[in-house]
Amino acid sequence: MLLTTQGIVLRGVDYKESDKILTVLTRDGGKLTVRAKGCRRKGSRLAASVQLLAWSDMTLFEYRDRYTLNDAEPLELFWGVRSDVEKVALGSYFAEVTEAVSGEGQADPAVLSLLLNSLYALDKLDRPLPLVKAVFELKLLSLIGYEPLLDACAVCGAVEPEDARLQLAEGMLTCAKCRSGGEGPSVPVSPAVLTAMRRVVYGDPKRLFSFALDEGGQKGFARACERFLMTQLDRSFRTLEFYKTLRVHEDGGAVPPAAPAGET
Ligand SMILES: [Zn+2]
Repeated sequence: MLLTTQGIVLRGVDYKESDKILTVLTRDGGKLTVRAKGCRRKGSRLAASVQLLAWSDMTLFEYRDRYTLNDAEPLELFWGVRSDVEKVALGSYFAEVTEAVSGEGQADPAVLSLLLNSLYALDKLDRPLPLVKAVFELKLLSLIGYEPLLDACAVCGAVEPEDARLQLAEGMLTCAKCRSGGEGPSVPVSPAVLTAMRRVVYGDPKRLFSFALDEGGQKGFARACERFLMTQLDRSFRTLEFYKTLRVHEDGGAVPPAAPAGET
C-alpha cells in the first residue's frame, strides 16, 4: 500500500552498505520507522530528504507494518539551521525530544506544527536561541498533556502571585505566603517570565516567538522551561548535553567534543 504524505526526519541510522533506517514524523501517519534503500549511494534521488531535519513530500510503501521510502521531494531543508553548529545542535534536540514524546503511528498535527515552527524560528526569525528553546519545551509539554496551571497561585488564587514559583512536579504556581517550605522542587517565576509563559501556553500559536524578554528574564524563562521539561519527562537527552557544551564554549569554556555518534 502506498502512503503519500509529508514528513520530517527525526533520526537516521546507517543500515547495510547504502541504506538508512529513518525515524520520520509524518503528517498523516505520525511517527514511523522508514527504510530508505540505497539513499547513501552517490546520486541517490533520496539523498537530500533523508538528512536529519529535512522536511519533504514523501511516498511510502507499506507492507506488513514496515515502511519503505519510495520517493521524496524536499520541501524545506532549513539551511540556516544546518549551517550553524549551535542551531543544528538545538534542532537535533528538538528532534530527539519530539521522537521521545511521539507515539508510533499516532498523527499529532499540533506537535508536528510546533516542531516545524520552531525550526523555522531558528532558520529565519533571528530570535535568541535560549528563547526559541524554552518556547519549544513549554509548548510541547502543554500539547502532550503536561500543561502547567499558570492562571493564578494554585492555593490562594492570586492572579499576580507575589514571589511566584513554578512547582516542577505539579506544574502549578505558588506564591510566597502559600508556601510552607515542604513543597517539592520549584523554580522562581518573575512577573516578566510569567507573562512569557502564559503567552506560550494560552496565546496564539501562530505568534509563539514574537515577544521579547531582557537578558535576566530570558535566563529565568529558559531555566524554568528546561527544568519543567526535565522533571515532567524524567530523562536526559544527549543532544541537549551536546548543545550545552557549545554554549559553554561560546562563553569561553571548554572545547566542544565531536557531534554525537549516529546523527546524520
Ligand atoms: Zn498563594
